[in-house]
Amino acid sequence: MTTVCPFAKAGRPDDAAVKKCPENQSKSKCPFGYDSATSAAGNESKPEQESGESARVTPKCPFGYDSDTFKLGPFSCMICQALLFDCSKCIPCSHVYCKVCILRLKDCPLCGADIEKIEPDTDLQNVVDRFIEGHARIKRSQVNEDKEEVVGQKKTVIYEDVSLERGSFLVQQALRAFRANNLESAKSRLSLCADDIREQLQRIGNTAELCSQLGAVLGMLGDCCRASGDAASAITYFDESVVFLSKVPKDDLEVTHTLSVSLNKIGDLKYYDGDLQAARSYYFRALDVRRDAIKRHSSIPSQILDIAISLAKVADVDRNLGNEDAAIGGFQEAIKSLESLTLSSEEIVQQQKRLSVLEFLNNQLMNKPSQ
Ligand SMILES: [Zn+2]
Ligand SMILES: [Zn+2]
Repeated sequence: MTTVCPFAKAGRPDDAAVKKCPENQSKSKCPFGYDSATSAAGNESKPEQESGESARVTPKCPFGYDSDTFKLGPFSCMICQALLFDCSKCIPCSHVYCKVCILRLKDCPLCGADIEKIEPDTDLQNVVDRFIEGHARIKRSQVNEDKEEVVGQKKTVIYEDVSLERGSFLVQQALRAFRANNLESAKSRLSLCADDIREQLQRIGNTAELCSQLGAVLGMLGDCCRASGDAASAITYFDESVVFLSKVPKDDLEVTHTLSVSLNKIGDLKYYDGDLQAARSYYFRALDVRRDAIKRHSSIPSQILDIAISLAKVADVDRNLGNEDAAIGGFQEAIKSLESLTLSSEEIVQQQKRLSVLEFLNNQLMNKPSQ
């Protein structure tokens, strides 16, 4: 997954925030800023919403699933280190793991016993599912909005929706499962997260925050499908991700970066599928988003690199489509922008990327097709 974090509000928009999120980076970032230092501060500074309530309880997970010091609990799989998915019990030792996790092994990683067979543990899975369903939702009494509540009147108990915390939690679980290649588990958590956000969108409308969160989560779902070889579903998710990210004001650098990456991913999938015209159109849209972003901000190195990569992608398709003049023009424009880019000695990663893209571009110019 190469999703960037559009929610790390503290350091944005600045060079450092974007530098952390280069394209093709293997480490994924939580769209809720869960994995950044800013998340803790964000949670703490969450404003008290209801004045009619004297003491609001901050929901805390008894298993530590909502803290940075995440601990593996009775509902975790010791292999993927995420919450159990498709719980499966080893026979004879009775240790429990996710099905896809334990199917890859011959011995139980906890006790070393030979696994004779694996049985589904639906009871435990039900408990885990209920735990996920209830996670980060606390019951509270409904506060009467017109403040004319009669003392002693029977109060309706509703669930406090703190889905931001639940969103962080689900994304955290999904990222763990994704890294361990338990893609179905990751998809299941992300789908739940997307449903939560959609529910909120229905209630309070298309806010920039919800749209960028949903766009990021849908992008991760696309990554899961792409990793499992399901290109068609991946394109559907990336397309939808683009729809929601496009609703966010264009002055958010991280969101525009995520948007352009989603467009490029669709372009790549179309490209590998042999649909070069479609690939070009998506690559070109990404280039357009990046050019627009650079117009709105004083350009920073990562943006210039992004534009050069976009130019290279469009030019590469142009060449394959037989538009050699356009291809040469694109490669040359990319080279020119990279050659004029000056980087400080601290920007080592950027410098390496700059040099490798330059090398690629120069090779493209030298190795003209024979026709
Ligand atoms: Zn597992
Ligand atoms: Zn065992």
